[in-house]
Amino acid sequence: MGLAIELAREAAAEGEVPGGAVMLDAGGAVIGRGRNLREAHADPLAHAEVKAMTQAARSLGTWNLADCTLIVTLEPCPMCAGACLQTHVGRIVFGAWDAKLGACGSIWDIPRDPHVGHVPEVIGGVREAECARLIFSLENDNCDFNGNIYVIIFLASLWSQEILSDRKKHARRRQQMKLVIPSKVTVQGNRNM
Ligand SMILES: [Zn+2]
Repeated sequence: MGLAIELAREAAAEGEVPGGAVMLDAGGAVIGRGRNLREAHADPLAHAEVKAMTQAARSLGTWNLADCTLIVTLEPCPMCAGACLQTHVGRIVFGAWDAKLGACGSIWDIPRDPHVGHVPEVIGGVREAECARLIFSLENDNCDFNGNIYVIIFLASLWSQEILSDRKKHARRRQQMKLVIPSKVTVQGNRNM
């Protein structure tokens, strides 16, 4: 994760969204590196994860990265989580959770979607505060507070989402009960008649 953080800092220094990614082979050697290059390449698909996975695939001479680990500073977005499925990457390790576009457990959980055959191991929250602080570094430049206030806001937003999602689950369950109970009553009523 240290190397991914360094790459994210390089991206930030170049005016990109601070995102860095590293690919490790089965033995733990670095075979791919990537940082966000969206602005520099005028390429909306130039996310750090895609760059790192492409480099790793070239290094191994195969698209199949099942024995590899992706390490990235921010939870992958839907595009990058989809790319992880396309490459069959074995493990995804990420730093900060992304309450806006996270697709490895926050908003969506694409790697563990039951419709997908390949299920990589997902480990989130590694050096989380450090990685979250990176994401908010641009705002910090214009603010008297240090990054901690943004980390607190970020974690609070995740916490509130958890509560909302729990409320939604309970509401859905109540709705299902409303739908199920009357039909059972009707069936029993018919049998009695
Ligand atoms: Zn992405």
